[in-house]
Amino acid sequence: MAMLEVKDLQVYYGMIHAIKGVSFHVNEGEIIALIGANGAGKTTILHTITGLLTPKGGQVMFEGKDITKTPAHKIVELGMAHVPEGRRVFAQLSVYQNLKMGAYTRSDKNEIEESLEMVYKRFPRLEERKNQMAGTLSGGEQQMLAMGRALMSKPRIILMDEPSMGLSPILVNEIFDIIQSVSASGTTVLLVEQNAKKALAIADRAYVLETGKISLDGNAKDLLNDDSIKKAYLGE
Ligand code: ATP
Repeated sequence: MAMLEVKDLQVYYGMIHAIKGVSFHVNEGEIIALIGANGAGKTTILHTITGLLTPKGGQVMFEGKDITKTPAHKIVELGMAHVPEGRRVFAQLSVYQNLKMGAYTRSDKNEIEESLEMVYKRFPRLEERKNQMAGTLSGGEQQMLAMGRALMSKPRIILMDEPSMGLSPILVNEIFDIIQSVSASGTTVLLVEQNAKKALAIADRAYVLETGKISLDGNAKDLLNDDSIKKAYLGE
């Protein structure tokens, strides 16, 4: 059984049919990339999975449970964390306070403390800046904070929306290394990216989204060598 399964998803914004029957799955332990151009519907799919949008049709299954109509905060409790596009850190709160917010569904203080240590170990820069206001962090540091905050809920799966957006090439590499290490430590990853080259390089499998539909899917290494992908998404 897949850890996450999306079946024939249909999402509308008013009259606009944004997602037109999308199906895909994520197995436990995988890194799955969802790639596609601007406006293809990647963010809409993530928002529908995490309960921020309600689909008109279709189903979202998480660990065998139908979560299609489950509210967002309950979905976090089930073990799914979302790192939103554009980071969305709480600018007026410190790094430490932002991280604590990520653990809002948990109550065991010792376990929360352990997660905090784990996040600081993974992101030493966040520990150095723990008392700094999040709004004053650089873009890369805010991305790390958004990822750290998501990890504070101790998720079984983490959904990331364009983590490389607006970052320098060096920072992009750093963020992708961290995604791989998060995966290696046992968290399943669904990664939404416009940076197809980077995403395909670390993913196990990938799905290509074009105007609300999956146009292609397969092994990430095969897609990296696919001529149509090279032309449309890799600039080759
Ligand atoms: P990007 O990388 O630019 O975020 P995306 O692949 O994530 O693109 P979405 O943001 O999911 O794409 O948008 C999919 C489609 O739905 C687009 O045509 C967009 O204009 C439309 N859309 C998104 N949000 C809304 C909204 N709140 N109201 C109306 N239409 C919307």
